Amino acid sequence: MWDAIKRKRRSRHPEPEEVEEGGEVEEVEEVEEVTDLVCDRCKRPLQGEGDGWNVVLDKGYAMGYLCPDCQTGEENAEAEVHEATLDYSAGRVEEDGRVRWPAKGAWNSVSTGTHGAMRENKAIHMLVSLEPPVLRVAVGPQSDARLSGLFRTETCKKAVHEAMSSKGARPGTRDLAYLVDSGMDATDVWVVEDHVRAVGGIDSHKLVVVYSPDIDPHLLDAFAPEYADSMREAIHAQ
Ligand SMILES: [Zn+2]
Repeated sequence: MWDAIKRKRRSRHPEPEEVEEGGEVEEVEEVEEVTDLVCDRCKRPLQGEGDGWNVVLDKGYAMGYLCPDCQTGEENAEAEVHEATLDYSAGRVEEDGRVRWPAKGAWNSVSTGTHGAMRENKAIHMLVSLEPPVLRVAVGPQSDARLSGLFRTETCKKAVHEAMSSKGARPGTRDLAYLVDSGMDATDVWVVEDHVRAVGGIDSHKLVVVYSPDIDPHLLDAFAPEYADSMREAIHAQ
């Protein structure tokens, strides 16, 4: 995990490109010195995998590091909790240089695109899946553009909205309904057109959110509270 963080730091501060001879002289950006992670107390540098080291967190951000020898019993217990609950392989260096780790199984970024199933079946408007730490949202030209409003964070809403716009998706007029499907893969949510319509029946003017009763809570967390609550209610009503 620690190596991953160090790599990410380096990748944020790449070596300046060599200026070609005879070419224009560009201003060379200052490259921040990469310092190795050291123990806050004994200043020992972290080497290898960092087994037993603890990250000192403040509001989810890494503020320091403690080697196993310097940890109190309490800090040692905390290290074990962090190891069990944080996804140390998915640390992200934020703009201000601070490092943040997501909870295991959670997502901290959104990726949009398309999906083979949606190309074949135009009744499918959207497909959402969780591949920690990424939330994947597939859309197509047939998507109801209003569906970007399903998401909780502005970042997600914006990303999905832009993906839909680029595919030429337009806002629809159908109401949203919920369908709990126990035969579904636990991590997928599909927003589809009316099932009846999908098999050639009469349009009931509904878009159906289809999901498993065992839906991953981290995936449910992607949806705005009013939609997530309706999804939970539909599971309990079963
Ligand atoms: Zn130490």
